[in-house]
Amino acid sequence: MAQARAEELRRLLNHAAHAYYVLDAPVMEDSVYDRLYRELVALEQADPALIRPDSPTRRVGGAPAEGFTSVAHRIPLLSLENAFSHGELDVWYARLLKVLDREPLEGVPPPDLPMVGELKIDGNALALSYEQGVLVRAATRGDGERGEEITANVRTIRSLPLRLELERPPAWVEVRGEAFIPEATFAAINAERAERGEAPFANPRNACAGTLRQLDPKVVASRGLSFFAYTLHLPEDWRAGPQDPTQDPAVPRSQWQALGWLQAAGFRVNPHCALCPDLAAVKAFCDLWEQDRRGLPYATDGVVVKLDDLRLQGEAGFTQKAPRWAIALKYAAEEAPSRLLRLTCQVGRTGIITPVAEFEPVPLAGTSVSRATLHNADRLAELDLCAGDTIVVRKAGEIIPEVVRVLKELRPPGATRLQLPPTCPECGSALVREEGEAATRCVNNGCPAILRGSLRHWVSKGALDVDGLGIKLIEQLVDRGLVASIPDLYRLDAALLASLERMGETSAAKLVVALEASKQQPWHRQLYGLGIHHVGEVNAKALARAFVTAAALADAASAADDEAPEPLTAVFGIGAEIAQSLRQWFATQANRSLLEQLEALGFSLAAAPHQSADGEGGPPAATPLAGLTFVLTGTLPSLSRAAAQALIEAAGGKVSGSVSRRTSHLVAGEEAGSKLTKAQALGVSVLDEEGLRTLLERDQA
Ligand code: NAD
Repeated sequence: MAQARAEELRRLLNHAAHAYYVLDAPVMEDSVYDRLYRELVALEQADPALIRPDSPTRRVGGAPAEGFTSVAHRIPLLSLENAFSHGELDVWYARLLKVLDREPLEGVPPPDLPMVGELKIDGNALALSYEQGVLVRAATRGDGERGEEITANVRTIRSLPLRLELERPPAWVEVRGEAFIPEATFAAINAERAERGEAPFANPRNACAGTLRQLDPKVVASRGLSFFAYTLHLPEDWRAGPQDPTQDPAVPRSQWQALGWLQAAGFRVNPHCALCPDLAAVKAFCDLWEQDRRGLPYATDGVVVKLDDLRLQGEAGFTQKAPRWAIALKYAAEEAPSRLLRLTCQVGRTGIITPVAEFEPVPLAGTSVSRATLHNADRLAELDLCAGDTIVVRKAGEIIPEVVRVLKELRPPGATRLQLPPTCPECGSALVREEGEAATRCVNNGCPAILRGSLRHWVSKGALDVDGLGIKLIEQLVDRGLVASIPDLYRLDAALLASLERMGETSAAKLVVALEASKQQPWHRQLYGLGIHHVGEVNAKALARAFVTAAALADAASAADDEAPEPLTAVFGIGAEIAQSLRQWFATQANRSLLEQLEALGFSLAAAPHQSADGEGGPPAATPLAGLTFVLTGTLPSLSRAAAQALIEAAGGKVSGSVSRRTSHLVAGEEAGSKLTKAQALGVSVLDEEGLRTLLERDQA
């Protein structure tokens, strides 16, 4: 099992690394690559017999590309080890102390070693060789030992010196740093590529790598590359020799001083770096930039932490792939791979079935994620999900997690394709998918999941707002058959409630009082609580204002038909889809009976006379147009003539057919004719639709 998985991972990661390093066209997100890479490292660590020479864990980067001379680096240019959390940073630090023989004694806090925090620029490492102060060679990292010689291209980067700005430069200097493409330039390059019908670069790092490998330096010059220097190597005799006080700048003894030296020599050094006295300061620096990086004009994918003292760096040394004295703390991933555990289905209060993927928990954007909705049967089919698949899950910031795609290369052989079940997982009745509809539904009115959903909605904050009736209690009431409809809630007695799990006499008595009090909630909340498809809080308010009783709304719904959905659509905000849903709801006998039962229980199902039109109590219904007479003419941009009339009348105004001196406002749309001329002649105010809405909105305020 482990052997097969290691083999699969090796194959997939090598394929991805080739696409990334050689073709500059990645086939997966970096964070997905990182997680799969770690899985392989863990397998190899648990059983070293699984290690193969071609494992991506055994090498740095990719082989130098063809078409360029390959050159050996004077000093190997390695990769960086990655940490994904503060905890992993602690582990790295503890190991570093051990290597340096500075392990703390039991019960004593670990010693603090100063470290430098630098932004991890998402570009490409370059090795620059200067001889007698002149740039003689520039190379890519390649496989860490040998890179591609790209001196002519690098000479076009204006932010690095072709000659060091030092009076007495050392015989040779090796400078490492990051070439990168700023975000704005990256966007412009991709726009140009799109115009030429070429595939866009996936990210600035790939665009930069592709640019550095251009055979024509003129093209490179046009791409606006930039460079930040971060590593300095000086000849041994300079480093080891006694400090010459006349030397300017002084030979650096620390990474922090090296950055200063590089700056003095004419390099651009990223200004967002910090000398941190201890690990806590390093962590604070990382946290700060995890947030602030979004305002930077270039991409960064983490923070690089480096031991400051160069002598201690030398003591710590290197592993096969990376220095022990540095680590990259990567920002929280927004995408990661995970293994699908099962597909479950949720039944909503309207009977809609939502497939949900449950997978091994993964940390994403700061939280642990283990399930994501798959929306509907079409999305499920589009993803082409099979049992046991490795999936890519995404969660950016506050956004709800989603399954982005399946890594089919890691699919177990013979895996079965996943589909929605034919029957409702709650009640077992056959599921229905109407033609042209995306949703699959359970249409059994007695389905306990639908009942639980409608009860939860009825008692929710925006609806009847009943305190003390949570999900667990609703589940008990439905499962024990004590409640089969909304009105049943109002038939429960305190003694029965008190006998239920996690209920006592006091909470039962309180609940009965809360239920009784909910009968006084305003009409629009009652309407919203009914859970009519598409009638949310805003629409419920608009409808309750236009139809002040359930009976009036029912009449309007039965008067309307598909061809002429007025007077429902005359209400501001109510479109054809909502009108149809209202018609269907009121046409259903069970719903009419529900209204009758509620009325019998004492619900008003109407705006109270002392309440405002939106039912929140307080001043009487606002009628800002009371006493005003309107005339309508021409075609308004969005309101039909009838809709405008309904709105005016609902706000207390009158609509007349002809303009006279008594007309308060003429509402004129396009192609207004003689009425407009007459109004102008009589000096009557003329409004457009916008002006009418402004008057009406005084009602909503
Ligand atoms: P790395 O990108 O994790 O870190 C090393 C690099 O960081 C250095 O070579 C240097 O270029 C850069 N860097 C930026 N700022 C720096 C600073 N201030 N100091 C020092 N170095 C700095 O490691 P890597 O070996 O270059 O690449 C491995 C990474 O590449 C993986 O973690 C993965 O995210 C990505 N990758 C992705 C795919 C894919 O398919 N998407 C494939 C292969 C690799």
